[in-house]
Amino acid sequence: MAATFFKPRKKGEKLAPLAERLAKIGLVRDWDYVLHLPLRYEDETAITPIAQLTAGAAQQCEGKVLRCEKIRRPSGEQLQALIADSTGTVAVRLLHFFPSQVKQLEPGHKVRLYGTVREGYFGPEMVHPKIKIALDGASLPTTLTPVYPAGEGVTQPWLRKRIARALLDVEVKDLVPVDILKKLNLPGLSQALQYLHHPPVGASLDALSERTAPAWQRLKFDELVAQQVALRLSRNLKAQKVAPVINPIEPKTTEKLKKQLSFKLTGAQERVLEEIRTDLARSTPMNRLVQGDVGSGKTVIAALSATLAIDDGFQAALMAPTEILAEQHFLKIAQWLKPLGIPIAWLAGKQKSKEKQANLQAIENGQARLVVGTHALIQDGVRFNRLGLAIIDEQHRFGVAQRLALRQGDTVLTPHLLMLSATPIPRTLAMSYLADVDVSVIDELPPGRQPINTKLVSLNRKREVLASIAQQVKEGRQVYWVCPLIEESEKLDLTAATQTYEEICHELPQVRVGLVHGALNPEEKQHIMKAFTDGQIDVLVATTVIEVGVDVPNASLMVIEHAERFGLAQLHQLRGRVGRGAQKSFCILLYGELSETGKERLKVIRETTDGFEIARRDLEIRGPGEFLGARQSGVPLLRFADIEKDTELVEAARQFAAQWIQTDSQAAAQHAKRWFSASEGFLDA
Ligand code: ADP
Ligand code: MG
Repeated sequence: MAATFFKPRKKGEKLAPLAERLAKIGLVRDWDYVLHLPLRYEDETAITPIAQLTAGAAQQCEGKVLRCEKIRRPSGEQLQALIADSTGTVAVRLLHFFPSQVKQLEPGHKVRLYGTVREGYFGPEMVHPKIKIALDGASLPTTLTPVYPAGEGVTQPWLRKRIARALLDVEVKDLVPVDILKKLNLPGLSQALQYLHHPPVGASLDALSERTAPAWQRLKFDELVAQQVALRLSRNLKAQKVAPVINPIEPKTTEKLKKQLSFKLTGAQERVLEEIRTDLARSTPMNRLVQGDVGSGKTVIAALSATLAIDDGFQAALMAPTEILAEQHFLKIAQWLKPLGIPIAWLAGKQKSKEKQANLQAIENGQARLVVGTHALIQDGVRFNRLGLAIIDEQHRFGVAQRLALRQGDTVLTPHLLMLSATPIPRTLAMSYLADVDVSVIDELPPGRQPINTKLVSLNRKREVLASIAQQVKEGRQVYWVCPLIEESEKLDLTAATQTYEEICHELPQVRVGLVHGALNPEEKQHIMKAFTDGQIDVLVATTVIEVGVDVPNASLMVIEHAERFGLAQLHQLRGRVGRGAQKSFCILLYGELSETGKERLKVIRETTDGFEIARRDLEIRGPGEFLGARQSGVPLLRFADIEKDTELVEAARQFAAQWIQTDSQAAAQHAKRWFSASEGFLDA
């Protein structure tokens, strides 16, 4: 669920421009507003006497502020007030607050509260209720109040007005034929939208909240149809494309590389490689996702696929989401391929222009057989000579458009696309979201891996952890110490990491400490990572820049500070940085204040090291909406319909979409465009 309140911003922190914040929640065109449907509804049509408030339910009451005080807590300052009407009292608690709220809750003020009541320590209380000054004689609303998903600094009244305007401005023409609606017993589009945005007097709160009302059924159906249409159109487009047939008669480099590896491929790796080989030999572009848990050995699969292309005279490209990871791939793969005489080029954003020019030229004239890099690979000016295979590592970190851009190497032939990811997508989601992607799973770890021992430790015991680190380092181990992302701001991030770095330097003078973060330039980053790989640094303090892919087998201890601020998948990725060598590895999750679900989440990480199980639990705790952003899934995400619960609608939508594309493809495409902005690239995928 979208947060309905936000922490006060730190002093000096600026709010992004409104348009940017709106775009972040998908609001750009008028149709985006029309289809921005309420998250829930509030019943503000009645006032409940305080004595009759029932715990667990959202209700409205009204009363006088008896007292209001600021209270210091370890987590910060809270505001507590006591409100009374003639029947009883209710407490109000704000865990963080604005000066305007202190003013509203001044003793003597008459206020109207809307929120969920719970049995608190000193009787009934509401935490973060909606507070309004109660004006005498002001009438209550007669209809339910919609509550929309909102972003920071985007208020409900503003959204309501903007949506009402959009409803007037667009032409809500019903594209779905009447006979279909009749057959499925669904209302007209305009009528359904009106009902959801402006529920009439007497509309059922339950039917609206549970999304069982016919109006909801109609919108869910439309959404499902739009998704099906988008997927089908994109599949049709793809089927028309022609890929280079990669089927080397003599896969010399591939064979040599395999022989030269210091290990034998696992059965799962062999199988996946075979699947890729079969795809490459076809003239339809491969669109394959290889899922394998952290450490399952995806890099070597990427390298061996690339050599297949190279062996048949094509170029291959490998794109990674961060500079550190791209760099590491480059070094590792160069180490494998250079002895075999294969020229590799490296491309990154902040490269020196002379070097970059030379690389660009080698890519264009075909001298560079493999190109490794970051987003720089898809920037203007990069022209491949004969791209046969595009590989994207940690594909979930890229947007759809970026993935598509990489395969646009050639004008005549569409290169094959191979995507790698350690973030597993549960089967039920994969079936609908990745309908046009083939999935291979590496379900086996290389032999000899030691299970990682994970411990939860309170941040209060940071000193003890520091002491044990000194001990570990003495025994020749290397340590990662990861600092959390603070409100997604690189700058603040850095402060936390720098502080920890200084603290460790100070506490453990005998230990060699390094610091790596996103603001360093590539040479600095490279320098530090190399020092760590070479064992010249014992403890590497880092921000999440090391989250994905980094591979230093000698590192055997991972400390994650404020683990409660990370997502489960992210923690799993981070933990996967250790346990790559032969020695026993540990992961210490340092936690600050924990909520019940917070505790639950960290326990999941402690109890299992199976990425799929973690993803499944994550899905349970967070719900699919957050699990896969549209950007991540690469396919239109469902906001309202639920694949598992709305099975009848899903089936009806599937049938209708197939038929619609045949009978009126123009209307079908127009329908899909309403739901998914063209910018998302789903339709021209
Ligand atoms: P990921 O799947 O997380 O990208 P990597 O490709 O980084 O994993 O591989 C992790 C480590 O395992 C690397 O050091 C790699 O060389 C090693 N490795 C890969 N395959 C095997 C194998 N079959 N046997 C032993 N070690 C392997
Ligand atoms: Mg990897």
